[in-house]
Amino acid sequence: MNNFGLDIWANNNFIIEDGQIKLNYKCMPSILQIVEEIRSDNVKGPILLRFPHLIKRQIKTLYSYFDKAIQHNNYQGSFNAVFPLKVNQFPHAVEAITSQGATYNYGLEAGSKAELILAMSKTPNGANITVNGFKDKEMITLGFIAAQSGHNITLTIEGLGELETIIEVAKECDLKIPNIGIRIRLHSAGSGIWAKSGGMDAKFGLTSTEIIEAVNQLKEAKLLDCLSMIHFHIGSQMSDIAPLKKALREAGNIYAELRKMGASKLNSINIGGGLAVEYDQHTHSKSRNYSIDEFSSSVVFLLGEIMNAKNVKHPDIFTESGRFIVASHAVLITPVLELFTQDYQEKLLNFKTVNPPLIEELVELNKLLNNTNCIEYLHDALDHMESLLTLFDLGYIDLQDRSNAEILVHNIIKRALYLKSANPTDELEQLQVKLQERYLINASIFQSLPDYWGLNQHFPVMPLHHLNTQPLRAASLWDITCDSDGEIGFNPDKPLYLHDVNLDEEDYFLGFFNVGAYQETLGMNHNLFTHPSEYTVYINDTDYKITNKVESKSILDILESLGYNKNIVSDKLKNDLLASKFITEKEKNDTLAKLELYLDQNGYLRTTN
Ligand SMILES: *Cc1c(COP(=O)(O)O)cnc(C)c1O
Repeated sequence: MNNFGLDIWANNNFIIEDGQIKLNYKCMPSILQIVEEIRSDNVKGPILLRFPHLIKRQIKTLYSYFDKAIQHNNYQGSFNAVFPLKVNQFPHAVEAITSQGATYNYGLEAGSKAELILAMSKTPNGANITVNGFKDKEMITLGFIAAQSGHNITLTIEGLGELETIIEVAKECDLKIPNIGIRIRLHSAGSGIWAKSGGMDAKFGLTSTEIIEAVNQLKEAKLLDCLSMIHFHIGSQMSDIAPLKKALREAGNIYAELRKMGASKLNSINIGGGLAVEYDQHTHSKSRNYSIDEFSSSVVFLLGEIMNAKNVKHPDIFTESGRFIVASHAVLITPVLELFTQDYQEKLLNFKTVNPPLIEELVELNKLLNNTNCIEYLHDALDHMESLLTLFDLGYIDLQDRSNAEILVHNIIKRALYLKSANPTDELEQLQVKLQERYLINASIFQSLPDYWGLNQHFPVMPLHHLNTQPLRAASLWDITCDSDGEIGFNPDKPLYLHDVNLDEEDYFLGFFNVGAYQETLGMNHNLFTHPSEYTVYINDTDYKITNKVESKSILDILESLGYNKNIVSDKLKNDLLASKFITEKEKNDTLAKLELYLDQNGYLRTTN
């Protein structure tokens, strides 16, 4: 049975049972059950579910593997982690991260002024804040304010100019001076699509000449004791561990050299993020060639080895893994609104009293098709279809005949696919692809899966139910934006097969997994579709609790967020309707009520689904 690669990407977070996908945790609710409960409240459109226990699991995994490596290698430094806010700044995600990380003293990383303000307001007392990215004097002053207010904050300088500003601010005020970190410009480049973060031509970091200059400037300003951290980040979704090892050797040696140059309070190496997530649905371990075990062991072992060789105290280790921590916690649920080839339903057949002989034959083939004859009958049907289309072009049969023929042939192909699903022939597999079904999903790819649009990043996708029947329709997914890029096409190399469902009779939901990292704030309001309705789900031994409901923005609020005055917009619409003529007062009032309702709802489609 098709398990949609669950064994590859799901990390045992989900299981299939009774034909549904369920959370593999405590009372093990099915996702469909949660979605139906939410939708019973008249919620329409896409839904984003957050599962805080999955964040906890990742934080725990990260800390426990590093702790294990530290013990195993008799390493003398400590392990510390911070969450880089750029990966997900949404309130209920950050709340889950800080609460689930509280027992680990898990901190936050900021890369901009707004993120720094957020970090200052959300970092638990005593946890670390690290600050990366380009900084002006204001941002640096904010760092001083954070230190003065009791935060354990490190400002990592990206260039000498920032260090000069830190020295300037330190001279101008009496505020507590934050810890200072230096981002090093690696000569070794990273791997993966985001590799620009490392390498000689990298956007960030100080060269060795600049590092020496920085130490001299710090000495001169009597601030060398503030230098506490060496930092690098080789890029996100690191596919290969080799560049990390090179970077560690480089950073480790720089650390040891700086200690020897008198930086006696230098005590940490921050290895940035980059720990990859498995998004692949088809082949094992394509996204990365290492495990968390190998990752943590390599970091600890290499740093220990370098320090032992140079006789330098082992540094504390910091990581800023983001994707690894939050990707799995969010699942996007999209209702399917339509299957385009459902136009070929048998009930739409409309025979005449006398039909063309080839059509009568198709009817017979359709009736008598079975497991032994299906390939032969399929060939006959395809052959008849060719002939019937020629007859249509020549004017010998009419549109009704053609429609009947198309429905019958579609049906024969589909039934042949089902009959031979256990071991399909090459020909059937090709037909399957040709006969692709387009599933219209009530969501926007631009809003909810922007990395698919921008970087062709694949996200695991599967139906929430029907999982005890083999899906046989080669599927392409179309979103409801009117942009042709809003499509996830069928890829024969990594095929997605979905079920043939009758949406008049039942709902069909798809889940997109591992969407908790980067997608939410990168998501854009193309066509004015906004963030899906979101919910946080806490699961315990007997039950689950749906909290933190944030419904997708109403249409008027979307317009307001663009800078329109929502009262002017709604008054204009209402007054135009009120001033119109030739309908009764009653109809006018009823219509007005309808209009008000529409303006107050989110912009996703509300047809049946
Ligand atoms: C983006 C970023 C991270 C997070 O990277 P992930 O691949 O999500 O772990 C960490 N540190 C810095 C400096 C970053 O810019």
